[in-house]
Amino acid sequence: MKQVAVLGATGSIGASALDVIARHPDRLRASVLAAGRQVDALLELCRRHRPAHAVIADAAGFAALRDGLRDAGLDTRAHCGDAALADLVASDACDTVVAAIVGAAGLPSTLAAARAGKRLLLANKESLVLAGELLMATARDGGATIVPIDSEHNAIFQCLPDAAAHAGLARIVLTASGGPFRGRARASLADVTVEQAVAHPKWSMGPKISVDSATLMNKGLEVIEAHHLFGVAGDRIDVLVHPQSLVHSLVEFVDGSTLAQLGLPDMRTALAVGLGWPERIASGVSGLDLLAQGGRLDFEPPDLEAFPCLRLAFEALAIGGTAPAILNAANEVAVSAFLQRRIGFLSIPAVVESTLGALPAAAAVSLEVLHEADACARRHAEQAASAT
Ligand code: NAD
Ligand code: MG
Repeated sequence: MKQVAVLGATGSIGASALDVIARHPDRLRASVLAAGRQVDALLELCRRHRPAHAVIADAAGFAALRDGLRDAGLDTRAHCGDAALADLVASDACDTVVAAIVGAAGLPSTLAAARAGKRLLLANKESLVLAGELLMATARDGGATIVPIDSEHNAIFQCLPDAAAHAGLARIVLTASGGPFRGRARASLADVTVEQAVAHPKWSMGPKISVDSATLMNKGLEVIEAHHLFGVAGDRIDVLVHPQSLVHSLVEFVDGSTLAQLGLPDMRTALAVGLGWPERIASGVSGLDLLAQGGRLDFEPPDLEAFPCLRLAFEALAIGGTAPAILNAANEVAVSAFLQRRIGFLSIPAVVESTLGALPAAAAVSLEVLHEADACARRHAEQAASAT
C-alpha cells in the first residue's frame, strides 16, 4: 500500500490526484492532505478520504480544522504551517508526495520530499523554476524519484524511460495549446478581462496557471522546468502551438526518431503514471479516439510579439543564476495583481520585463541567495505594478 501525501489537496491537481487514488483502494491511500486556507474544503476531503494527517498552511485556520475533525469523529490529526508540513512530508506518514501547491510557496515542502528520498510527483513547476539546480541536486542526494506531473514533462518522461534513451536525446519540443487568446494580435489584448483570461479552451486548472497559459508564461516556465528535469540546454528546447492539446510533447533522438505521447487533456493520466510507475493503472480517463476529436493535429509557431512572456523566460534561462527566480517572482506578483483587477493583461509581461531588467542576476545559487532574489523581485514587481 502506497501512502500518498497530497499537497494542494483542495486545488485542481489535488482533486485529480484524489480521484485517481480513490480508484485504487487496494494499493493507494491518501495519508496526508494539505491546503493553504480553505478549511471547509479540506475538512470535506478529510471526511471522504480519512487521511492520518491534515495540514492547513494558514495558522488562523488551525482551530477550525482541529475542531471540525473532532466534530466529524475522525482520527485525522490537525497541523498548521510550513514547518509542520515539511516534517510530515519527510516522515514515514508518506512514501509518495504529490507536490501541487501553487507558486513559490510550494518550494519548502517539495525540497523536504526530495531530501527525504520520497517518490515526488512534481506538479509545482514554480519550485523548479525558482530553485531547479538545488532541487535536482537535493533529489539526487536524497535518492528521491521525481515523476513530472506537468502534462508536457510527463509526456517526455514517458518517452525517456531509461538512461540509454536519455543518452540519445537530441531535442525536446514542448507543445502549447496557445491559450484562450491564440491568434489574436497584441493590440487586441489590452482590454481582456480576468474571466476571458482564465477560460482555458482545453484544460480546467487553477486561476494562476490559467492566466500563465493565456500569457504563454506557462510555456516559458515549462521550458525552464524541462531544462532542469531532463538536463537539456535552452537552445535544444522548442515550443510548438498545438491547439487540439492531444500531443502532450515530443522528444527527438539523434537517430532521427521522434516520439510523442498523446492523450485527452486530463491531468489524471499524468497522475496515474506517477502513482503507478512503472506499472500502468486506471485513471478514469478514456483512450484517445482521434476521429472523434476532429481527426486532425495542427501545429503552428508561437507568436512572441503578442506573448512576450515566452521570450522573457527563454532569456531568463539563458542568463541563468537567479534570473529564473526573478522571472517567477515578478510573474507571481503580476498575475496576482491582474487577478485582483489592479493591472491590465499587457502589464503582466511589462512588469516581468521591467523587474528582470532592473535586478542583476546573481550566479551563486544557495537557497538564501534565491530567497533574497525572490523577495527583491517581489518588491520591485509590486512597485512596477502600482505604477502602471
Ligand atoms: P489551484 O489554485 O487549483 O490549487 C492550489 C492549491 O495550493 C490549493 O489546494 C491551495 O490551498 C494550495 N496552497 C496555496 N498556497 C498554499 C500555501 N502557502 N501552503 C499550502 N498550500 C497552499 O492550482 P492548480 O491548478 O491545482 O496548480 C497547482 C500546481 O500545479 C501549480 O504549480 C501549477 O502550475 C501546477 N500544474 C497544474 C496543472 C493543472 O492542470 N491544474 C497542470 C500542470 C501543472
Ligand atoms: Mg503543462
